[in-house]
Amino acid sequence: MRIAIIGAGLGGVTAATGLHLTGHDVTLYERAPDLRETGTGIVVMPNGLNALDTLGLAEPLRDHAAPTAQGGLRDRKGRPLLVTDAAKAQERYGPTIVIDRAVLHRTLRARLPADRIRTATPVDDLGGITADAIIVADGLHSRLRGRLFPGHPGTHRTGRLDLRGTLRKVPGVEALLTAILIDRHSGAMFGLFPLGSSGLYWFTDAPAPATIPTPEQAREQMAELMADWHPAVPAILRATDVADIHVDPITCLARPLDSYTSGTVALLGDAAHGMTPDLGQGASQAFEDAAALVRHLKDAEPADAAERLSRYDAERRPRANKLMLASARQSRLTTQTGPGAWLRDTLLRATPPSLAARQLAAIWLA
Ligand SMILES: Cc1cc2nc3c(=O)[nH]c(=O)nc-3n(C[C@H](O)[C@H](O)[C@H](O)COP(=O)(O)OP(=O)(O)OC[C@H]3O[C@@H](n4cnc5c(N)ncnc54)[C@H](O)[C@@H]3O)c2cc1C
Repeated sequence: MRIAIIGAGLGGVTAATGLHLTGHDVTLYERAPDLRETGTGIVVMPNGLNALDTLGLAEPLRDHAAPTAQGGLRDRKGRPLLVTDAAKAQERYGPTIVIDRAVLHRTLRARLPADRIRTATPVDDLGGITADAIIVADGLHSRLRGRLFPGHPGTHRTGRLDLRGTLRKVPGVEALLTAILIDRHSGAMFGLFPLGSSGLYWFTDAPAPATIPTPEQAREQMAELMADWHPAVPAILRATDVADIHVDPITCLARPLDSYTSGTVALLGDAAHGMTPDLGQGASQAFEDAAALVRHLKDAEPADAAERLSRYDAERRPRANKLMLASARQSRLTTQTGPGAWLRDTLLRATPPSLAARQLAAIWLA
């Protein structure tokens, strides 16, 4: 089949590569003048890696597996709140990887021939596209979603601001690796992951100020807010070059879509289910979309396109929409302040590691 894919983010390149490798005649359209991803880190959970595995794309990524540390949630001083037996869960479901986004993007598109890709080609209207099926992967702020589903309210800002940064490994941080620190006073969060053998990737999440700060201002504001956290936290923030800090007001879909397809057009990735980053599932859900799409379009003829895409919708929408809502719930839980947060911390401390691992498994089991 001739398949057009609109948008060459992580979801679009994965779908394009997977469809190309299964014999479809693929064209990938990208608005930007060249193919790239921002140079910061990303966590790909076991379910995302397993989806890439079904497309034959996971092998070169396994070198980036994060050490199976304890993980879990801690208080702002680094003391355990929720201990998850992450090692056991990963033994069962596979590794989590932490990788530079640009490296991930390059790896996923490595087997897609250059003549299948049209950069500097925005597609804001599907009228000019000739194909048997069209995959819309133009991200959270998708214009095409609005055209296909004009009744959908679009996106919504959550009122949170995230910073993401990378730096070379600094000493004294081992105890915090793969942990997420939450704080019942400020409702802020900090997460730290190893990036390759010599780097670190961190994120913060906090209430957004009235105006979006520059990376330099944001770094200072966050280091001040977290001055009395575990001493490694402000030290890591201040040791990060501003050029390696990304500032994002958090935005997600205002509500789940009632359908991911319209005839021979299907939405994929953030365009379909843009969620908050709280469960680290955005890209993994796009990879699950791509794997499902490739499976449902296997050996399809042009006349089968609408029927096959409706099967994709039936498989993917319930799970991805559920995770979208679960991510928003997780955000409300971890950013709570006041007496509710005190109760939360008490309950988290009482949660056995096996129960926490079972909750992870529900997400990781596609
Ligand atoms: C702070 C933060 C942290 C995150 N951390 C994680 C994490 O650790 N793990 C995880 O799994 N996910 C994470 N995510 C989510 C993850 O980044 C996204 O889910 C994922 O990148 C979505 O990929 P996509 O291909 O659907 O969309 P995008 O990456 O947005 O790609 C869309 C592409 O379409 C192109 N495009 C747009 N409009 C047009 C057009 N009209 N014509 C042609 N091309 C167009 C764009 O230029 C872009 O290249 C995080 C998100 C944020 C904000």
